[in-house]
Amino acid sequence: DVTATKGNEFEDYFLKRELLMGIYEKGFERPSPIQEESIPIALTGSDILARAKNGTGKTAAFCIPALEKIDSDNNVIQEFMSNSASFSMIRLLLLMQFIFCITNAVVILVPTRELALQTSQVCKELGKHLKIQVMVSTGGTSLKDDIMRLYQPVHLLADKLLSPEFQPSIEQLINFLPPTRQILMYSATFPVTVKDFKDKYLRKPYIINLMDELTLKGITQYYAFVEERQKVHCLNTLFSKLQINQSIIFCNSVNRVELLAKKITELGYSCFYIHAKMLQDHRNRVFHDFEMVLAGILFVLIYLRGIDIQAVNVVINFDFPKNSETYLHRVGRSGRFGHLGLAVNLITYEDRFNLIEQELGTEIKQIPPQIDQAIY
Ligand code: ADP
Repeated sequence: DVTATKGNEFEDYFLKRELLMGIYEKGFERPSPIQEESIPIALTGSDILARAKNGTGKTAAFCIPALEKIDSDNNVIQEFMSNSASFSMIRLLLLMQFIFCITNAVVILVPTRELALQTSQVCKELGKHLKIQVMVSTGGTSLKDDIMRLYQPVHLLADKLLSPEFQPSIEQLINFLPPTRQILMYSATFPVTVKDFKDKYLRKPYIINLMDELTLKGITQYYAFVEERQKVHCLNTLFSKLQINQSIIFCNSVNRVELLAKKITELGYSCFYIHAKMLQDHRNRVFHDFEMVLAGILFVLIYLRGIDIQAVNVVINFDFPKNSETYLHRVGRSGRFGHLGLAVNLITYEDRFNLIEQELGTEIKQIPPQIDQAIY
């Protein structure tokens, strides 16, 4: 979620005014969490190994410091993105730079041609007022053509190089960099090759991990056997017995979310709901409203991930999830908060909660008549 931040501002990083203008004109109001974590570190010159989900703003997280470091009065390439087909070209380019005594070159490597184009586009937009020239080298053009293009001023070159099969080329490239090099690595996944690479080439890297490691620790899980037609009644009983601060209730279909919301309103409770058929904008608004109120209920449909609202102390599976992954995403919380919580599963005879218990190595106990308030 690119909007959930600690409250830093782009102004806090003392960026060049032209870069700041580009950032705001792109519509970024404040840094996303991965940007908050990495921009200040990248600006200090440290190596970074960062892991964050797709769509969290990783591209700008490394483009912004890269653009800050580019000297746009210098009319040679200072930034690359490349692949193996053009590897010999990169060598040449780097050579050219060193021959001409350019000090702060920036090389950006991405895994696919599309990403090379996209990343260069992001750099162009963010660097709009920096007067940087962008060149994308995706390997389709001849070396000669690329070299010809270099007679034009270029600050940034985009290509693809980060796929595993290009590993040897990357290593060659890194060996070619000056001792003052700085390496920033961003990914959503960390295969073994990344660890090897890190151990070999990153120097005292600053490790950033924004992936939520979901855990069931600290969460007491109960089940209650109910018939389908008794579920609403059972929910009502739970509402009256439990000390709910905020609660999230999961259903297995869009229709059931809407119907249940209606039932619950009839029972006299206020509630919000979100499901997969609502537009993202609308969902964000509801989510935000829910976070703002101090007590309430939110209904959510399957596959809505990454819900981590601090004030939620009770999660109810009105419909039991079909697999353990979904269960973990609904009930589990990201370990760093370590909050206590309660999960209540309404189970009908066809739900296979034993299997999910086994797969997750956890215990879901039968709900007792009284629940100690201290455990949630
Ligand atoms: P990732 O590289 O992590 O997959 P992207 O860099 O593609 O994510 O960013 C995802 C989307 O979020 C893009 O549309 C991008 O323009 C937008 N975005 C990135 N940073 C911000 C920000 N600080 N404020 C608002 N939107 C942002």
